[in-house]
Amino acid sequence: MRPRVRFAPSPTGFLHVGGARTALFNWLYARRHGGTFVLRIEDTDVERSSDDMVTGILSSLTWLGLSWDEGPGVGGPHAPYFQTERLDTYRAAASHLVEAGAAYYCYCRPDDLAAKREAAQAAGSAWTYDRTCHALSPEDVARREADGQARAVRFLVPPGITTFTDLVRGHIEFAREHIEDFVIIRSDGHPTYHLSVVVDDVEMEITQVVRGDDHISNTPKQVLLYEALGAPVPEFAHVPLILGPDKKRLSKRHGATSVGEYETQDYLPEAMINFLALLGWSPGGNQEVFSRDELVERFTLAGISGGNAVFNAEKLDWFNQQHLMRLPSEEILRRLRPALTAAGLWRDTFLTTEAGWIARVIDLLKPRARKLGQLVPALAPFVSDEVVYDEAAVIKHLKGDGVADHLAAWREVLQALPTLEPAPTEAALRALADARGIKPGVLIHATRVAVVGQAVSPGLFEVLELVGRGRVIERLRTHSS
Ligand code: GLU
Repeated sequence: MRPRVRFAPSPTGFLHVGGARTALFNWLYARRHGGTFVLRIEDTDVERSSDDMVTGILSSLTWLGLSWDEGPGVGGPHAPYFQTERLDTYRAAASHLVEAGAAYYCYCRPDDLAAKREAAQAAGSAWTYDRTCHALSPEDVARREADGQARAVRFLVPPGITTFTDLVRGHIEFAREHIEDFVIIRSDGHPTYHLSVVVDDVEMEITQVVRGDDHISNTPKQVLLYEALGAPVPEFAHVPLILGPDKKRLSKRHGATSVGEYETQDYLPEAMINFLALLGWSPGGNQEVFSRDELVERFTLAGISGGNAVFNAEKLDWFNQQHLMRLPSEEILRRLRPALTAAGLWRDTFLTTEAGWIARVIDLLKPRARKLGQLVPALAPFVSDEVVYDEAAVIKHLKGDGVADHLAAWREVLQALPTLEPAPTEAALRALADARGIKPGVLIHATRVAVVGQAVSPGLFEVLELVGRGRVIERLRTHSS
């Protein structure tokens, strides 16, 4: 059977890295087994949910490339995929449970419940619902219904033990005496989380529930609901929490926690995916850098480890660099196009007559870039006549005694060379330095600053060849006597 899995965010905040990882694990599992990845928006907490958050979550998932097969925007056989549009389904399921004797109406008022709870606490004991309303006679219930009394629906927890197997945690047993008759429909007619999540997972034929560890304590109640509804219980995999480096639950204190912030900070989605995948999951072996396809190929739920995962931002930086290195130059160019256009550095010939050249420039620059956007200023001296000079570098390398003179001589040597091929150009520079009794470094540093405006660059002779003789000579002229 092909798996059907889901990601079910509540749109009460942006997509958190923990949520993104849950989505990723579900997505990888679906893709690995040719299954279906469902996206369901759990927006029943109307006060705290917002359309902006829905938009933000969808956009972060899209940025990560976690495409959903059913859900908002794409529809599917189990539409709608917003819980607020499915309230009738939950109410029908609750009525069915009441009719079957698996649930009952509860007319207790919140004040009365609070008073009982306080009294119990004052006496030093924990309070669970005392089944007052389960004991009502049919006549009493009929009278209250006729009166139109507000009522919730409570699930009647049967005696015994609930067991389930968690694919991460193993066999779990839970004595039902510790579970009170929980509310499944509130007195305002709204379902509680337990009911809506189970009804939807049943209706949507979910086969594996992969979600955060914080839901493990909810699972016994949910298993009871599956059983009462006569539905097969899915497999569960509860994924360990993500912690900050101090081993406390990852929070704002540790830095950015929403996926959107990482997008704004110019991380590559490939890096984010790779980084998130290894937070709590291990493919075995030493390989760390994985493409999306490799992750799909390797992913197993059994590879999710029980230990909590530590979020290490430096590691994310490292992944970013690794993936940037692996990104083909054409793809880099495609992604940089908007930024290059905005900077006035784009021209269409990058895609035609200059394609080979710009690819070489990008390949030369990318090993030094930590973020994609850093390539825009790095490309500027290659693609534009204007050079932005770093003042400190100019003072240090171009203003020294005799430098302008040395550069004038060097310019003439370059003019006489047939090409700016790196090896002969380097040999010519060293010969000139010798002849003038200076260290080659003097000429190398001065040339670099004159040509790219910075004290650092990739290998100077590769740079000179790719900047091109015309521009190199022009820039040396500006800085020579
Ligand atoms: N909507 C729940 C949440 O965002 C997820 C429920 C579930 O995965 O079972 O925490």
